[in-house]
Amino acid sequence: MSEPKKMFINGEWVEAASGKRFETTNPATGEVLTSVPEGDQEDIDRAVRAARKAFEEGPWPKMKPAERAKLLLNLADIIESHGDTFTHLETLDSGTPIGVASYFTTLAAENIRYYAGWATKITGETVPLSIPMNLFNYTRREAIGVCGQIVPWNAPLMNAIMKLSAPLAVGNTVVLKPSELTPLSTLLLGELIQEAGFPDGVVNIVTGYGHTAGAALTEHPEVDKITFTGSTAVGKQIMRTAADHVKKVTLELGGKSANIIFADAEYEQAIATAANSIYALSGQTCFAGSRLFVEKKIYDRFMSDFADYSKNLKLGDGFDQTTVIGPLISAKQKSRVLNYLDIGQREGAEMLVGGNATEKELACGHFVKPTVMANVTNEMTIAREEIFGPVISAMPFEDIDEVIKLANQSIYGLGGGVCTTDVRKVHKVAHELKTGNVYVNVPPLSDPATPFGGFKQSGIGRENGAASIEAYTQLKSVYINLD
Ligand code: NAD
Repeated sequence: MSEPKKMFINGEWVEAASGKRFETTNPATGEVLTSVPEGDQEDIDRAVRAARKAFEEGPWPKMKPAERAKLLLNLADIIESHGDTFTHLETLDSGTPIGVASYFTTLAAENIRYYAGWATKITGETVPLSIPMNLFNYTRREAIGVCGQIVPWNAPLMNAIMKLSAPLAVGNTVVLKPSELTPLSTLLLGELIQEAGFPDGVVNIVTGYGHTAGAALTEHPEVDKITFTGSTAVGKQIMRTAADHVKKVTLELGGKSANIIFADAEYEQAIATAANSIYALSGQTCFAGSRLFVEKKIYDRFMSDFADYSKNLKLGDGFDQTTVIGPLISAKQKSRVLNYLDIGQREGAEMLVGGNATEKELACGHFVKPTVMANVTNEMTIAREEIFGPVISAMPFEDIDEVIKLANQSIYGLGGGVCTTDVRKVHKVAHELKTGNVYVNVPPLSDPATPFGGFKQSGIGRENGAASIEAYTQLKSVYINLD
């Protein structure tokens, strides 16, 4: 077990006011890694007050945009210079295979650079008015204030960065709560934020549980905006609570994305795309292609080959360079996933491959094998609910109209994939899927420059791209009497 960590409030490393701590473990081995403070209401209040002071009285919002950009660029360089440590921590604390963790670290630095570029480009407009007075009108895009940022356990560093770069670029201050399951990379980020030279109180990190620290952040009257990435159930709760103070909210929630394979697709590419869509991060991604629709004329052959492909993916500790499928985050998550496999089979689905990892060497971690469920219908529980594990629910379809209808039969609308070589099908599916993101002949991904978010119960608002700049600013209209 390494040295116990503290949390970061107002430029200082502190214990929780209660003195309580909790442990974080390696999901691949069950080993306790270290402990972190169990922040709750009092600590959140301390952090929010620090963020408020930094926003109202500190230099940050008034700083020249180029100065803010410089600090962000400095942070990106420092993150990169600690790339190996981040990658190591991410694999240790979240089980992410090391190659993927390394990619996320690179992407994190790039996300910050992208928003550093925005800092100097936040502009308003001059607006011609028609009312019969001699007026000059212009708009200003201003920072919102204190942002409460709540992060899940999948891709913890990347998710934390997405909650920092855009709001900071435009002059907000932040209280960030990482997931209780994966706090370590975010705490290292805090150290580097300090090293980069950000003023005290601009970024505060409170470690703690969702129902205490997370709820206190959502309820706090001095928080102007909440951005939450996590489950739809908690997202709904957050939206209700935020209503009390009419807080602005951005919600990035769950998904049950369809992946559609037409018979004319590049066959091998379609198999690999379907596999990457669901198995990345062991199925613990919000945009996982967890519903697989395969055109009837190739369904039997495709499912047989896809099951073989899945069976051969290497399960194991993320530190092993050959691992493709790492562990699930916790014992609770593993039993939740296995329970879905039972429900699926009881409702009539057939498990072609997968299930519990029984190999001796995996016994201490939370492993589930890549699992292919066939004979699924869209009405079954495993086709409707987000499983958040390496489980794909496969269904045949006859034609394009039928499959679009089936794909859209979901309360979620985050991602959607299609594999085809027919450009007419590409555009028809891309236009008619009711989802925030569509992936054509490529597994789900995101880039800082283009908006990411969900239709329907997959969320409200967008992160990334210009959308995040809008999400973290508010417009003011100024009228000047010229007479
Ligand atoms: P979760 O909802 O359990 O927790 C997410 C975060 O919210 C954690 O920090 C947790 O401590 C906190 N939290 C929990 N209860 C809270 C409450 N009552 N008030 C305030 N905060 C609270 O989600 P998770 O299990 O950590 O992550 C998995 C979920 O996240 C999945 O549903 C997944 O689809 C979703 N997700 C969505 C996206 C996206 O961009 N749409 C990205 C990643 C994950």
